[in-house]
Amino acid sequence: MELLKNKVLQEGIVLGEQVLKVDSFLNHQVDPVLMMEIGKEFAARFAGEGITKVLTIESSGIAPAVMTALQLGVPLIFARKRKSLTLRDDLLTEKVYSFTKQEESEVSVSKKFLSPGDRVLLIDDFLANGEAAFGLARIAEKAGATVAGIGIVIEKAFQPGGRKLLDAGYRVESLAPIASLADGRVTFADKPEPQTNPV
Ligand code: 5GP
Repeated sequence: MELLKNKVLQEGIVLGEQVLKVDSFLNHQVDPVLMMEIGKEFAARFAGEGITKVLTIESSGIAPAVMTALQLGVPLIFARKRKSLTLRDDLLTEKVYSFTKQEESEVSVSKKFLSPGDRVLLIDDFLANGEAAFGLARIAEKAGATVAGIGIVIEKAFQPGGRKLLDAGYRVESLAPIASLADGRVTFADKPEPQTNPV
């Protein structure tokens, strides 16, 4: 998705070789026009999948996920990281190790929002080791629902999450797959090869 890739190139801040900061349009300040385009793109890619619910994890997955849900005409559910007074009983809960916080947390979804007939599209902002996506998938599957696909805004393809999810049988669509963050630069994985003239 060129619009997104250009935004990453213009505004992304490379923090070491493992982490990309995109807090000007996705992780803190949000660009709603870009989020709408992301929602349209995911909705188009998963159009034939009979999606009934979009599921993400708070907080940075919510913006792209709500736009996707809007385009697909289905509800968005976000898994919550802290149990609150209003989120107590009948929960589907899974442990997820956070890549950026380097700590394990419990994420929960109320049982009343996922049912065995649901075909769930998981959406997240980043894919690194796949912990968040696998945690969401386990929650959906505990409810008896089917994971119909996984949509990722920015996949760090040099980390193992994408491969692990594919090996587990999930359909993964990532809009901006990154091959490397070496030398302080973002290099995309699916950049077209430069044309060479036949000799
Ligand atoms: P995973 O669970 O796949 O290991 O990591 C994905 C989660 O960690 C995402 O929900 C995202 O919040 C966070 N994350 C992983 N890598 C990055 C990164 O390079 N930048 C940012 N901003 N978040 C990341």
